[in-house]
Amino acid sequence: MSKIVLTFNAGSSSLKFAAFGADNGRLNHLAAGQVEGIGANPKGSVKRATGETTEFAFDRAAGKLDHHAATRVILHWLEQVGYASGIIAVGHRVVHGGPNLTEPMLIDEAALAILRKLIPLAPLHQPHNLAGIEAAIRAFPGKPQVACFDTAFHRSHPFVSDTFALPRAYYDEGVRRYGFHGLSYEYITSTLKKIAPQIVREDVIVAHLGNGASMCAIKNGRSIASTMGFTALDGLPMGTRCGQLDPGVLLYLMAEKKMTAEQISDLLYKESGLKGMSGISQDMRELEASDSPHARDAIDYFVARIRRELAGLAASVEGVEGIVFTGGIGENSSRIRKAVLSGMEWMGIVLDDEANDAGAQMISAKESRTVVFVIPTDEERMIAKHTIEIALDPRKHQ
Ligand code: ADP
Repeated sequence: MSKIVLTFNAGSSSLKFAAFGADNGRLNHLAAGQVEGIGANPKGSVKRATGETTEFAFDRAAGKLDHHAATRVILHWLEQVGYASGIIAVGHRVVHGGPNLTEPMLIDEAALAILRKLIPLAPLHQPHNLAGIEAAIRAFPGKPQVACFDTAFHRSHPFVSDTFALPRAYYDEGVRRYGFHGLSYEYITSTLKKIAPQIVREDVIVAHLGNGASMCAIKNGRSIASTMGFTALDGLPMGTRCGQLDPGVLLYLMAEKKMTAEQISDLLYKESGLKGMSGISQDMRELEASDSPHARDAIDYFVARIRRELAGLAASVEGVEGIVFTGGIGENSSRIRKAVLSGMEWMGIVLDDEANDAGAQMISAKESRTVVFVIPTDEERMIAKHTIEIALDPRKHQ
């Protein structure tokens, strides 16, 4: 029987999962799927590497689906296709590892207690991650469970990249710029090592542009600065999140508009960004296809912020040898990549238009001093890799 590693990514209303074969030291993607509509009307499907897709069936009479019930639906499918008995470990995406967790961690009772203590730092995400972990512990008893943190990759930041200019006591109690999307940046860094070993030791800026969007400056394979801060709201505008905002705006919303914390949270997380600016959609494909001036404004602002951050991050690593685009927009939108990089010759960037339009892996021109890549990210594979390393390392089980 093949060894299989499962990965879980549990959100408030969804549970995404992937299965990898883990024989001969290689990770072989077998399937990926999701259950959506947790707490409401569930739906979900799984796609195998062969291309075969299965829609999950739900027992509507059983009432609202929670993470435990969603996990049972996934387990049932794993049993049907003969994967369940091969599972050797489950890896979990966990948004917050706080100031001290710098590496993935085997989950036991003590680890769960640490993760629960971090809930105040990510109240909208961490509880759902924990619900996914608890459901997986129940569904796969006795199998090692591993937490992989979106913040861990950024713990190498120097103080100036981690702090706000608040009284020191706030920093000490954990009010810091944590940075997120760390599993994506780690995956890109490890991929760059293979495809461009000459630049991974140098200074690289990675733009992860998806529904969530951030950028990261990397030196010698380590994160130096990130556009995301205390929460995943800061930095670039995103599908529905505002990105950088003057904190004075919050004071205005509270004092003049009498908005509650919950209303402000909804505004900043769910109603802003591309969706709020365009009034049309959070989906970049729809905005690119639209001739509405508000859609154009939203795209222009998105691009303008990326260009500002590119220059700012370049200063924090004192120059840039390589740039990587990843995430749904970064990987697929030649228009956004071109808009971001045009007129950047002063940074040593010359785009190869044909390569960019063709979606090539390297899209910079031969004469470009800075090499530009498009690399599809794979956070699930990164989780699976960490998970198998920890699950197979007896020292981690003492
Ligand atoms: P998430 O952060 O949810 O993982 P993704 O990385 O899948 O998101 O990115 C989703 C975004 O990518 C959406 O805005 C979508 O419109 C955009 N996208 C996907 N394909 C294209 C494309 N061909 N052109 C432009 N944008 C695209």
